[in-house]
Amino acid sequence: MTFYVDVICSSRSKDRLDRLSRLNMVVLEVAERYERAALFGELHLLKDLKDKPDDEAVRSALLWAYNGGLVQNEVGRRRYNELLSRAPDGRCPFCGHRDVDTLDHQLPKASYPLLAVVPDNLVPACSVCNHRKNDMVATSTSTQTLHPYFEHADRGRWLFARVVSLDPVAFAFFAEPDPTFSATMQARIRHQFTQFHLATLYGTQASRQVNGEREWLIKLRQHGGPDALREHLRDAASSWAATSVNCWQRAMYEALADNPGYLADSAIRTAGEVT
Ligand SMILES: [Zn+2]
Repeated sequence: MTFYVDVICSSRSKDRLDRLSRLNMVVLEVAERYERAALFGELHLLKDLKDKPDDEAVRSALLWAYNGGLVQNEVGRRRYNELLSRAPDGRCPFCGHRDVDTLDHQLPKASYPLLAVVPDNLVPACSVCNHRKNDMVATSTSTQTLHPYFEHADRGRWLFARVVSLDPVAFAFFAEPDPTFSATMQARIRHQFTQFHLATLYGTQASRQVNGEREWLIKLRQHGGPDALREHLRDAASSWAATSVNCWQRAMYEALADNPGYLADSAIRTAGEVT
């Protein structure tokens, strides 16, 4: 288990190194159990690993393995950066928007020291989502945060928006998972949407975006009418959908294209424009 050895070998304390070396096989077995549980969305069932091992000195050594061996050590830091780079496009898998800048413990290291340096338990995230997730431990399947390495909510549609105000343009984002998702998966997607405050994040971003495009959307409608504007918005939605079926940009452009008031009305009228 090269990862674990790489992380613990920088220990300057012989006692700590001995303690951690003796755990090598245990950590390996736990990592295998973790992988199996994650594959079936059953991490909440690993309760017997909570607060283990019993010996506080060993738990403390495991926490050092993360902070001292992985985060603050040169060799460990290379491993840390390799894990960070697992996020596609450097984007946080929890919010799907902000840049990753930290590693999140899918099961918190404070409660699960044996998983403190298990690579599958270390997920790239943005600091905000990392903070929102905090040390919370799910007690049921439906409140378990989706594991980005094992569970993919992007295999179906779940993010939508509607226009709730035309002047200024504002959106309400909501999670409506496709019925092809299992009931449990639907519940978890909804939970995650709330847990990471995605309605607020996306609503703010979308208002900002559409305000920035206001001038040229006005011109587009002036020259081509509502139909041309609708076509452009649908093309933009389709283009964004190719990057991620559930990105907020897609939901935003679709909401605008589907809103007759926005397409035809004075919402994007300039002061001098005749309607
Ligand atoms: Zn995030």
